[in-house]
Amino acid sequence: MVNSVLECKAIRMFYVKQFRSAGILDAVFEVNCILEQVTGMPWHSIRQISPEQHQKINSMIQRRISGEPLQYILGEWEFYGMKCFVGKGVLIPRPDTECLIDLIAQKFRRSEKLNILDLCTGSGCIALALKKIFPDAEITGMDCSPEALAYAEKNKNYHGLDVQFIRGDVLNTTFAENFDVFDLIVSNPPYLTSQEMQTLQTEVSHEPATALHGGSDGLDFYRNMTKIWRTALKSGGMLLYEIGEQQGKAVSEILASQNFRNIQITQDLAHRDRIVSGDKI
Ligand code: GLN
Repeated sequence: MVNSVLECKAIRMFYVKQFRSAGILDAVFEVNCILEQVTGMPWHSIRQISPEQHQKINSMIQRRISGEPLQYILGEWEFYGMKCFVGKGVLIPRPDTECLIDLIAQKFRRSEKLNILDLCTGSGCIALALKKIFPDAEITGMDCSPEALAYAEKNKNYHGLDVQFIRGDVLNTTFAENFDVFDLIVSNPPYLTSQEMQTLQTEVSHEPATALHGGSDGLDFYRNMTKIWRTALKSGGMLLYEIGEQQGKAVSEILASQNFRNIQITQDLAHRDRIVSGDKI
């Protein structure tokens, strides 16, 4: 263990090499993220690192080498330009999900007094990003996981946004019947297949399986939520799901079977099918 004030450059080089040997592809970026968080400075302005800081850095580096996701180690990640606190027990917001926000921002007018429900809200990132865009909207986020909801509350308080988070099972029919009607129901549900769950990237295997696994074919939540929550949509209201890139056709068929119209598949920035949306008639 190093216990004197060290040149930052030497430390960076040392850890980048360790990350590379551990097979971490974005070694420089990830080392910089850790250094920035511990020192509170942009990596290029850091000149020296104290022994206390170095100890913290070293323990974060070791966690990362052991396969933990960088986002959990940092305790925060960015989603749609917003800081989002994350940690064990909650799904890490993905950039893929940002295109849901873009699409909703295109479909509705900012000044509309929308009533929006975000099912399987997790960290609350979708609900909170929408509240920023639609300040007059009434937004509710729902999740069954107390760990995830603790992060959603923390994120809401950090950003000072008025969103309601509630604990509930999104597959509970009676629960759904007791809700007001919504203009928009959005969800990024668990959608990985049982087979995909067997071959998760090490980092992803640290995330809660309940946020990832959508049953044997990955479609359980789409099948059940579409049926259950249809009644909670206004006529003309929109249902909008994030999907796995292979699921566009199957999820569109689920929406069609429940009488949704204007069913559309939208791609993400990498040109992969990422959203299925439809209107309730
Ligand atoms: N997009 C995530 C992944 O590929 C899965 C998230 C989800 O199931 N909603 O790991």
